[in-house]
Amino acid sequence: MVSVTTYRARWIVPVDSRPIENGCLTVANGKIISVGDSRSPSAIDLGNVAIIPGLVNCHTHLEFSHLSSPLSPLLPFTSWIKAVIGYRQQHPDEVSSAIRSGLQESLRSGVTLLGDIATTGWTWSDYTAAAQQPRTVVFQELLGLTGPRVASQVALAQQPVESSEVPTGLCYGLSPHAPYSVHPDLFHTAVQQANARALPVAVHLGETAAECELLRHGTGEFREFLMSLGLWQADIFGDRSCREWIDALTELPRSLVIHGNYLTTDELALMAAYPQITLVYCPRTHAAFEHPPHPWRDLVELGGSVALGTDSRASNPDLSLWREMQFMAQTYSDVPHHTLMKLGTINGARALGCGHHAGTLTAGKRADLAVISLSPSGCENPTYQLLNAGHEVVGTMLEGNWAWTHDDFQAGRQLS
Ligand SMILES: [Zn+2]
Repeated sequence: MVSVTTYRARWIVPVDSRPIENGCLTVANGKIISVGDSRSPSAIDLGNVAIIPGLVNCHTHLEFSHLSSPLSPLLPFTSWIKAVIGYRQQHPDEVSSAIRSGLQESLRSGVTLLGDIATTGWTWSDYTAAAQQPRTVVFQELLGLTGPRVASQVALAQQPVESSEVPTGLCYGLSPHAPYSVHPDLFHTAVQQANARALPVAVHLGETAAECELLRHGTGEFREFLMSLGLWQADIFGDRSCREWIDALTELPRSLVIHGNYLTTDELALMAAYPQITLVYCPRTHAAFEHPPHPWRDLVELGGSVALGTDSRASNPDLSLWREMQFMAQTYSDVPHHTLMKLGTINGARALGCGHHAGTLTAGKRADLAVISLSPSGCENPTYQLLNAGHEVVGTMLEGNWAWTHDDFQAGRQLS
């Protein structure tokens, strides 16, 4: 027999349509079957909460999820990169447990869909260890600037991954890391593989002014950094820009440009012409590295696609996409919360290839959702107040089942 459950809430926020006050959402067989204001006598009343679509974190590195605080120093950037490399070398056996921990933390922040960058030491089972996990696109990271390393990473990019070995709910992609860490031959192999195998791609691009200087002139902080590691390649830097990477991404069915803090207007315009390329803004990480204002609004105005990520605990205090959106609401106080909600839900779902199944509260989509407790004084208009301080994630549902609920929220309610 099909189990049908209806939930009532102070607000239902479908994201693709207007918020519904005192609305109901009905779930059956793991899917949303109706959203509206119809009153069902058997509805479970969740109280002074908002039901929203499950959040989508398009960019993180779960391997760092055991960190209790960001690595330091954050600046100069190459010192932070050195700290990241050092941490990886010191904790090679903690990758699996960190991924599992990060997935559970993500659930507690309302995240039901993730894009994760995986380096070494990971297995598919890390992403399926618990009964309830966010769906994840696992991007295999590719890093290599010099001969033997480039050859081994080209082989990794070319390694077939049969669909039969990818567990349900997961997806495989490639992540040539960044222009300062990836030889052009390796990057082009990754793009060619992604094109031939219809894989999503994620790249870090235009993250620092130093990266842009390295590409353009072959000078600056990154030159010194690469020389200190014995990785300097004089023939591959200079007379280049982020644009050549974006040009290559235009060939692909789906790709994510991570950060893009220093992309030029021309580069943003090129991305806007290819909406299958999504710019992923990581607000709190961007702020921690003290970059100038992020160009995400310019890309939106040009008609391009913008989604959100937390980046990892190596640069962020937690993995809460809800906190990222609340941070944005404070930083961009003139932007309606409704607009920010799109960035953290449907835009991210589309970027990860799940727009047909997730990202909005729409009949026929998976019942992946988050529940937000509202302040006792009320939330009169979610379009402008949903992300206010004090509003917290208290429950996360995956395909109609509660994957996590806060103790206070569960008390007194028949959530099972
Ligand atoms: Zn990253």
